[in-house]
Order: sequence, then structure tokens, then C-alpha cells
Amino acid sequence: MNRNKDAINTSYYQHTLKDSFTCVGPGLHTGLKILMRVFPGEANTGIVFCRRDVDYSCAEIQANWHNVSDTRLSTSIANSRGVRVSTIEHIMAALYACDIDNVRILVDGPEVPIMDGSAAPFVQLIKNAGRVQQDAERKAIIIKQAVSVLHENKFASFQPSPIQWMELEIDFEASPIGKQKISAPIQDKIFEDELAAARTFGFQEQIKTLHKLGLAQGGSLQNAVLIENNEVVNEEGLRFKDEFVRHKMVDSIGDIALIGARVIGRHHSICSGHQLNHALIQKLMTNEHAWVYSTMRGAHEYWSEIARPHYSDKEMGENQEFMSNPGFYIH
Ligand SMILES: [Zn+2]
Repeated sequence: MNRNKDAINTSYYQHTLKDSFTCVGPGLHTGLKILMRVFPGEANTGIVFCRRDVDYSCAEIQANWHNVSDTRLSTSIANSRGVRVSTIEHIMAALYACDIDNVRILVDGPEVPIMDGSAAPFVQLIKNAGRVQQDAERKAIIIKQAVSVLHENKFASFQPSPIQWMELEIDFEASPIGKQKISAPIQDKIFEDELAAARTFGFQEQIKTLHKLGLAQGGSLQNAVLIENNEVVNEEGLRFKDEFVRHKMVDSIGDIALIGARVIGRHHSICSGHQLNHALIQKLMTNEHAWVYSTMRGAHEYWSEIARPHYSDKEMGENQEFMSNPGFYIH
């Protein structure tokens, strides 16, 4: 039974940063130079963005799935007054994977800096700032029933599992990408070593259209992998052979983090993106039979004492096999 706890692999208690950190750089879509400062947050406050360039009375935006306002190419959230912040998924993924529950993020514009297009700079800044435990139980939701969404050839689902586990498949026509598949638990060390450095990517053929839509204004070879005529344009090449699917996993973790609690279950997607991830989260959260609100302690107890007899050996087999040999799987 201890293996379940190891596999859940995160503290029973909430954490915040020990110190604040600052970063600055262009936003991927607005192209604006943004200063972002991330401060420790009180227990049970979650991730809160605060726009420094608007009136204080309407500056706060809670990072929660209720507030998702746009999912075209990146995830944006907005408050009831329409004040928004976009491209939040990489900092959200880094905070979630690094087990940070509560922070206050001040931005002086409508977007999070894109940095190098990956979550690695945020992981480094979080590690440098340090982590402190707080006097409050870490929130979790336990997936009890499978929930899925399907749109054309795209699919995404949550399934019951004692661990926070993700499996992703992508299938692009462009030859540097093609079919890629990845399966890994959401865990700080795996995130830091195998996922965080994977960069966002785009296609030269789409750039004119994106610019007309006011998107990708800050995109450059310094913050994205660019593909043209089935070739990677960036001189330095790829950071991983399958950098694309790894980045998709970062994006999905960032989207799932908007649930506002640890999600104890397995997320599986095929050709998914921010839009389908959000549709899945909406379907899950509005289906009260599919999940139960709990804590990390409660999730451990649930899987140790309650749920185990209700799952067949076959259903548990994959999980048990994983738990006895946790690692990173690339297919
Ligand atoms: Zn991304």
C-alpha cells in the first residue's frame, strides 16, 4: 500500500514559494514586453494573477477553469470585468509540477512572458525561490468515473487511477513531427528533466493568418520551434527528438492545473489541444458523479482502502506495473 503513497508522490500539505521571483520578456501573442513578479500566496488562495496596468478594483483573476476565456493556441483567463491574462499554461504547468499550490502573480500587461517558449525558465526560477510547506491540507479531486470528449479525430479523457498520470498521442502531417506518443506521471523530477525544456512550436505557413488574427506577434526563433516545408528552421535544431509531444504534455498539465486541486487520475488524449482539454475539464467538473472533492491524504486513503476492491487486476495491472517501476515511457 505504501507504493500508492509513493506513486501519489506529493505532500499532503499545501506549499508556496519561499521567496518571490521576477522575469521579463515578450508575450508570445501580444508581442508586448511584460514584467512578471511571482510572490508567495496565503494557504487556500490558489494561483491568482493580478494585472498591474488596470484599476486595482478589477485587477485580480483567479486561475480557475471557470475563468477560461479563450483557448485559441494558448489558454487565457478573464475575470467578471473582462480583464484577462493569456498564455498562462507554461507557468501554470511549472507551478503544478513543482508542487506549488498558492502564489500571487503580478503582470504589467495582458500576457505571461513566453521566455524561451518552454516551462524550463519557470522551473529554474521556482527552484531558486524555494518552497515552503503551509499549514493546510493539499486539495485533490479523485476521478471516480471515466469522462471523455471527442471532436472529429481528437479525443481526451480522465480515468480513475491512484496516480496523476498522463498519456498523450499526437499525429501531424509535417514530417519532423508525425506520430508521437508519451506516457508519464506528473512528478516534479520527471517534469524538470524530461518535459520542461520542450518548446512551443508553429508552422511558417500559418504565420500570416495568425498575425491577421493578432496572434503570435511576439513569436521568434528565440521562443518557438518553427517548421517550414517539413524542416525545423531553428539552427540549433530540437532539444528532444520528440520535443513536440513533450511540449503538448506541458500544455496539458497547465490546463489541468486550472482545476485548482491535484487531479488524482489518468489523463489520456489523442491530438488534443487547449480547446479540447478545456471541454474535458468542463464536462468532468459538471458531472458530480465522476469525481469527489478531497485532499491528498483523502486520495491516498481512498485508493488504499476503498477503491482497490472495485477494480479488476487487469485494470490495476497497468498501475501496479508502473508503480513498481516508475519511469518515463516514450513509444
Ligand atoms: Zn505551450
